Amino acid sequence: MRLLKRRADLNYQQLSENLRTLSDKHGCELLSIGRSVLGRELWTIRLGWGARSVYINGAHHACEWLTASLLLAFIQAYLEAREAASPLWGIDIGEASSRASLWITPMVNPDGVALAKEGLDAIPQQYHSTLLKWNYGNPNFREWKANIRGVDLNRQYRADWLKAYESSPKTPAPKYFAGEHPESEPEAKAVADFTRKLKPEFVIAYHSQGEVIYWNYRRKAPPEARRIAKELSRLTGYALVGHNPREAGYGGYKDWFISHFHRPGFTIEIGRGMNPLPLAQFNSIWQKNAPLLANLANYVLNL
Ligand SMILES: [Zn+2]
Repeated sequence: MRLLKRRADLNYQQLSENLRTLSDKHGCELLSIGRSVLGRELWTIRLGWGARSVYINGAHHACEWLTASLLLAFIQAYLEAREAASPLWGIDIGEASSRASLWITPMVNPDGVALAKEGLDAIPQQYHSTLLKWNYGNPNFREWKANIRGVDLNRQYRADWLKAYESSPKTPAPKYFAGEHPESEPEAKAVADFTRKLKPEFVIAYHSQGEVIYWNYRRKAPPEARRIAKELSRLTGYALVGHNPREAGYGGYKDWFISHFHRPGFTIEIGRGMNPLPLAQFNSIWQKNAPLLANLANYVLNL
């Protein structure tokens, strides 16, 4: 299959095919860490072979699917730079590969992405009437954030989950419903299980609401988190924000990672304006985030 080069507008099928082609071509590990509610594999690729790990994921939120496009574009650029033995934004990718393994799940919420991108046509008929009800009768799902059961996957983790539950809708909704209990949804459980198994040095969750980087959670982040956050901010120009429950809520992935592992975790919010972000922003998002991603293996050095 033909590889899509730095494509902003990407669906699950294209993502899966491209990941498979890239992993075959470059001989890197591709695994599924679990399945979505509708049975889509949660593809995760490993870049590099270093013993220390960094975990990066995208598209917890359905309408933020541009983060998956960004991560696929990076995976391809990284593997091609390594094969050509040419530096990527000044980084020697061969050296980076032996320093750390980057594990990347570009699309945590593929069912939600299918709904937000392609509408009800992409979803089995038996879900239609319930989804319409949860979307307040609106047949337009472009701004849908949740998974296909109306649970906000980034409120599913064990970081003051009860506060997430209490401060949100108590029933399925386009966004903010934290579910009936933490990790009730297979997508969030797969990400949490994989993280527990991998025990990465630090994690990055990509979202797309404003150009900011959240780097702390209730002042629990270790001291080195601030140093890495400053680097991430310098490379992207995105502002740093501590934990602000009014904006970030509770039960988030990076919040759980920080409080559970006492290691650095970051949420990077790409782009500006309402989700879904206009495709025209993709190039500038790429310019800002690709150098950051290329540099990640270096940050394990001083941890
Ligand atoms: Zn988000």
